[in-house]
Amino acid sequence: MKYKRVLLKLSGEALAGEEKTGISALTVADIARQIKDAKNLGVEIAIVCGGGNLWRGKTGADMGMDRSSADYMGMLATVMNGLAVQNALEAIDVPTRVLSAIEMRQVAEPYIRRRAIRHLEKGRIVIFGAGTGSPFFTTDTTAALRAAEINADVILMAKNGVDGVYSADPKVDSSAIRFEEISYFDVLQKDLKIMDQTAITLCKDNNIDLCVFNMSEDGNIAKACNGDKIGTTITG
Ligand code: UDP
Repeated sequence: MKYKRVLLKLSGEALAGEEKTGISALTVADIARQIKDAKNLGVEIAIVCGGGNLWRGKTGADMGMDRSSADYMGMLATVMNGLAVQNALEAIDVPTRVLSAIEMRQVAEPYIRRRAIRHLEKGRIVIFGAGTGSPFFTTDTTAALRAAEINADVILMAKNGVDGVYSADPKVDSSAIRFEEISYFDVLQKDLKIMDQTAITLCKDNNIDLCVFNMSEDGNIAKACNGDKIGTTITG
């Protein structure tokens, strides 16, 4: 295995299936199966769940809500997604723990870095909920932050139907090419929209590699964990 410990970023949309919003039990079950296959290869897996399928802070702000309140709602949404993923994994006998950055003891363990690492060492899948615990951030930034904290070898950014990073939007520009490898410097310079700038900067400053790949293709999570050349790898 190329990687010993990975951080898998699942956007909220990835859990929504065809509907694009809400949670699709079938889709989540399928993702869980793929995660189990990857884990069986012997890699430690931590997951950051997004929440965009349920709520985004910006939506609330656009409606006139206070941005912080709207962002807290978004963080709560990520916990709901985390519980859905936990449920699907445990249904197929994969031990998991949800660690929440906002304390809610009846629902999830509080996020404690050392505890997260211990769970991983014991072969449990760790699901980070509630983002960073602070408004004005995203779950992409959370992925970069947690990856740095747990010393993950790579962030695996699972996309729905998008197989990597392109020079331009391939749906609009037929001459767009997919990068197999690209540096964070180039990502920032070319203003390629992979993650928000805060997340990119955090990855760049801490030398965290990022692999953007298409999760819709069966077996790709395991391939990405194995370091196979699928999608685009972004390095420091
Ligand atoms: N969020 C936040 N702080 C964080 C992480 C997330 O306030 O550290 C909120 C923010 O409102 C965001 C929402 O949670 O819109 C859902 O996360 P995100 O949009 O990153 O989810 P994704 O696009 O990956 O589904």
